[in-house]
Amino acid sequence: MDKEKFNRENRRFIPRRPGSPQGIHVKPATRSYSPFASNTPLNHGAPLRQTEDQKGKKLVFLRKSRNFHGRNNKQPQRTSTSMRKVTSEYARRREQIIPPLAPGVIRIIPLGGVEQIGKNMTAIEYGEDIVVVDAGIQFKTEETPGIDYMLPNTKYLETRKEKIKGLVITHGHLDHIGAIPFIMESLGNPPIYTREFGALLIKKRQSEFPHLPELNIKVITKDVGSFPISDNLKLRFFGITHSIPESAGVIIETPIGDIVGTGDVRVDSLNGVVKEEEFEQYKVFKNRKVLLLMMDSTGVEKSGWGISEDLVIETIDNIMKSAPGRVVIATFASQVERIIRFINTAEKYNRKVFIEGRSMKNNIEVVKFLKLANTSNIVPVEELQNYPPHKVMILSTGAQGEEFAALMRMANNSHKYIRLNSTDTVVLSSSVIPGNERSVATLKDNLYRHDSKIVTYADTDVHAGGHGKRAELEWIHRQIPYKFFMPIHGHHYMLKIHAELSRSIGTPKENVVVPDNGSIVEIFDNGNKIRVLKEKAPAGIVMVDGFSVGDVQEVVIRDRQMLAQDGMFVIIASIDVNSGTLKKSPDIISRGFIYLKESQDLLKQTRFIIKKTIEESAVGRPINFDMLKEAITDNVERYLFQTTAKKPMVIPVVIGV
Ligand SMILES: [Zn+2]
Ligand SMILES: [Zn+2]
Repeated sequence: MDKEKFNRENRRFIPRRPGSPQGIHVKPATRSYSPFASNTPLNHGAPLRQTEDQKGKKLVFLRKSRNFHGRNNKQPQRTSTSMRKVTSEYARRREQIIPPLAPGVIRIIPLGGVEQIGKNMTAIEYGEDIVVVDAGIQFKTEETPGIDYMLPNTKYLETRKEKIKGLVITHGHLDHIGAIPFIMESLGNPPIYTREFGALLIKKRQSEFPHLPELNIKVITKDVGSFPISDNLKLRFFGITHSIPESAGVIIETPIGDIVGTGDVRVDSLNGVVKEEEFEQYKVFKNRKVLLLMMDSTGVEKSGWGISEDLVIETIDNIMKSAPGRVVIATFASQVERIIRFINTAEKYNRKVFIEGRSMKNNIEVVKFLKLANTSNIVPVEELQNYPPHKVMILSTGAQGEEFAALMRMANNSHKYIRLNSTDTVVLSSSVIPGNERSVATLKDNLYRHDSKIVTYADTDVHAGGHGKRAELEWIHRQIPYKFFMPIHGHHYMLKIHAELSRSIGTPKENVVVPDNGSIVEIFDNGNKIRVLKEKAPAGIVMVDGFSVGDVQEVVIRDRQMLAQDGMFVIIASIDVNSGTLKKSPDIISRGFIYLKESQDLLKQTRFIIKKTIEESAVGRPINFDMLKEAITDNVERYLFQTTAKKPMVIPVVIGV
């Protein structure tokens, strides 16, 4: 009756939630009876099996045939050790076949960001040197429930870390700097080259991980021309327009030619007339022959020119001038340049500024430090009631309807200090990111219940994206004379459209490559030709889940998806190890599957199936518990699917007593 020990040993297998059954009064005979000792089948046709590649800690999933652990198999225990060996040898062989870098060849490897928006990272390798551009994260998607975020796969770099001469950061957005705390150590902590705004955001983020070694950040000021980072490579930053201060593109000068990355980029124009400042920024390419251009593809699908940021500010200016009460502006925290101008506009109309949202506050702190705006009119939200409504502007996160963001809390009356009313004007200064339509609709529903005046990007010019639309990108293509083109920063289809854009203005087809994550692109034949190798650098998904980092999470994700879809079904059966019979009727716990109290027939039938399975399978002594569990899982899964058309995760706990 050692309940505590049982709970201790099985803690991670027992759903810890209110109402979970605690009274399992049995003691497991050995650890191997734990319900997860053999892998939970992931689908009915061919469950996936997980093995570990000891060397790289990378999990490889092998499809396991139905008979692999079948009941008739006399050797069901093909050891996981032998599986591991096979896997790691396979992995090693795959890695060995990446050919060594030939002299005079430039290798470019996008390690993330070319099959998604996020986790941007590209490595450029020449001779004994590697320089890495950006190290971003990707936020969770619907396919990765519960995950904090994903990182680029840096395995290729880890095995060549003595070659890494620097990490270049184009700008301070999280999809470009967010991975730094998780990867710098394994890359050997190379120097980070960045402009000051990026440097401060990197330091701020790093301070949240006090156990990590200090970063070696080299701040590059505006006027620095090209500077060497190794015998062969030089760097040069150039200014571009984006949505966060000090965004830059980078020129990597190699002995064969220049590799250029624009970073995230747009072009400021008024009615299609490009501003003089933009021409200035690209003057650096006047007499330069660029070998390869890599460029942001995010906005390529949208035709024409983006609206001018000036127009956005003008609209906001009018709103602030005429609004009878408070003005609440929700925008992305990443839109730092716009936020700076909002703060200045508020000052113009003597409105105090209240900042809501942690990410917004973080960025404002950097703005304050660098004195990029007059932040003296920013007031803590606790003092809100001391000011008349027409003297108030609230800057808030949450325009995408994020559940716990400040604006949503205002909208559903759960904000500590702010209750919306009919004299408020709420401005959603952001477009809706694809996938967020539903949460934005909920947000709007809640906002409209307050009879406040709502202004969205659909009504007026309150939002201009940070990424250039097609005409803007085409303009940039014409400013940079390049030989080869590789679109980056976007989903695959965006890259394809961007490649087509490059070809449409005269780039020969064979000079354009569309990479995947891990593609190894080489410029060879003295800079005359470009190719993509058939071998790939490791590009498996790396996730951050709570405190753990790694690609070990894939199976966890699949479990979460399965649980989210059809719930779980736990069977606890105690059997007599001598007779191989059930000691008592098995306990059944289910969550998120069906309401058991109203499904007595199903329960009865399931218990009968379990009993029958045990009688048939618990032959031979000692009883093979793994096989027995597998049989119970199979039979119960089949029955539940036939009766309910659902596939809950079936977890048998068989206890020998
Ligand atoms: Zn950006
Ligand atoms: Zn970006």
